Amino acid sequence: MSKNTPITVARGDGIGPEIMEATLAILKGGGARLDIEEIEIGEKVYLRGNPAGIEPSAWESLRRTKVFLKAPITTPQGGGFKSLNVTTRKAFGLYANIRPCLSYDPFIRTKHPKMDVVIVRENEEDTYSGIEHRRTYDVVQCLKLISRPGSEKIVRYAFEYARAYGRKKVTCFTKDNIMKMTDGLFHKVFDEIGAEYPDIEKEHWIVDIGAAKLADTPEVFDVIVMPNLYGDILSDVAAQIAGSVGLAGSANIGDGCAMFEAIHGSAPRRAGQNLANPSGLFLGAVQMLVHIGQADVAEKVHNAWLKTIEDGVHTYDIFREGVSKQKVGTKEFGQAVVARIGQKPVKLKPVDYSKAPTRPLTSRPPYKRDTAKRELVGADIFVFWPTGTMDQLAAKLQPLAADGMKLEMLSNRGMKVWPGGMAETFTVDETRCRFQLPEDKPGSISHEALERLLNRIQKAGVEWVKVENLYNFNGQPGFSRGQGQ
Ligand code: NAD
Repeated sequence: MSKNTPITVARGDGIGPEIMEATLAILKGGGARLDIEEIEIGEKVYLRGNPAGIEPSAWESLRRTKVFLKAPITTPQGGGFKSLNVTTRKAFGLYANIRPCLSYDPFIRTKHPKMDVVIVRENEEDTYSGIEHRRTYDVVQCLKLISRPGSEKIVRYAFEYARAYGRKKVTCFTKDNIMKMTDGLFHKVFDEIGAEYPDIEKEHWIVDIGAAKLADTPEVFDVIVMPNLYGDILSDVAAQIAGSVGLAGSANIGDGCAMFEAIHGSAPRRAGQNLANPSGLFLGAVQMLVHIGQADVAEKVHNAWLKTIEDGVHTYDIFREGVSKQKVGTKEFGQAVVARIGQKPVKLKPVDYSKAPTRPLTSRPPYKRDTAKRELVGADIFVFWPTGTMDQLAAKLQPLAADGMKLEMLSNRGMKVWPGGMAETFTVDETRCRFQLPEDKPGSISHEALERLLNRIQKAGVEWVKVENLYNFNGQPGFSRGQGQ
């Protein structure tokens, strides 16, 4: 018998303590080999004046155990409270969010009886970097950051997951027909890394039609890997159409640490009534058992859970006259699962974790940074220009270009408005002014030349509010053209 694995447990808020109690009872009944350290997180910690919702001592426990089983928490209403999930994901680099969405037809109602999809969501980047600004009266921005190492990590994880769990296909969703550089990079990395997995089928869908297909015919998908925002939205859609968001668990995996949870919240209105369904948290805990190398226990308790569902022992949220046999509370549901340990479902497919990976799926080749020649060739200078016309702005700026650069274009909300703008184009109080070396003239400019240009612009009475440098990589532009440029 192997020795116990230390884990950190937080009972959370609302229904959290009840569903955690039931989950731990099932794990214990299945013989999970765990040493549990408990920490306090959530509402009480927030209200004690800690905006992160977690005490510094709790981080110590997580650093020690590196495995976190977390019940949902209540984020108090009002500003200033940071999302504990986002903080934990970022602090521990939990880059992969894994959410299996499976139908349990005919025992749990779904329009998609054959659905069996695993969503692999990138968890750290994209618009979730939290870099937002307001510079002018009219416009706010959120930076969407996609990195090559970040994309490589998540895409490789998706393929490794597929291989380890006997999945046949990995699909990638992006919107690279519009976001050619950010989503384009994610898609490119998917193609590059996918080529290393000839045994696995690969496909790419534009996220809008992919999402429509997922909602309509989820059985055509197997593993789907996505950047953060699409993954956030579509993993909830997938869980809901599989049967209920109340049934899905998720794993947040990093190189050194991992967090397991239900996908639903703390359901405060159901708290303290022994009503809530513990299945989401339980299924998160099953992923945890596999992760810590206790696939034997994971298989035993997961099959007992499937048998309980199949026997019609259901909490109120999945109870259906004619299908369900017994309506039970949180605690009794846990007891029903424990009573079935050792049994397997007959109609539902039993799980088999005998081939589950015995090591965490995080090893990968070292990252190789691109070595292309990088040259500064100009800048997009955003200016505050609330009232004048675009022709007037261009007339002010054109004479200021020097050091080989030219004013190439003005664009407003990405739409080219000079030269050759259209009178009908709606404009706001921030305009992007592209100063650039002519494309047919190789070379580069210095940062000092840019500084001089910014000073001349400011002296001419135009306020610059942001500068975005333009670089060529091996002579190829590392920036997009304006719409209409
Ligand atoms: P919720 O997921 O708590 O509840 C949505 C609905 O689903 C409610 O009708 C609820 O009764 C039902 N429900 C959820 N889980 C259930 C379960 N296990 N059994 C039976 N019914 C269940 O979402 P909400 O009401 O929008 O949020 C409540 C609180 O949870 C908020 O404070 C929110 O910030 C927090 N939240 C936390 C997490 C987390 O900790 N990971 C995630 C989402 C929301």
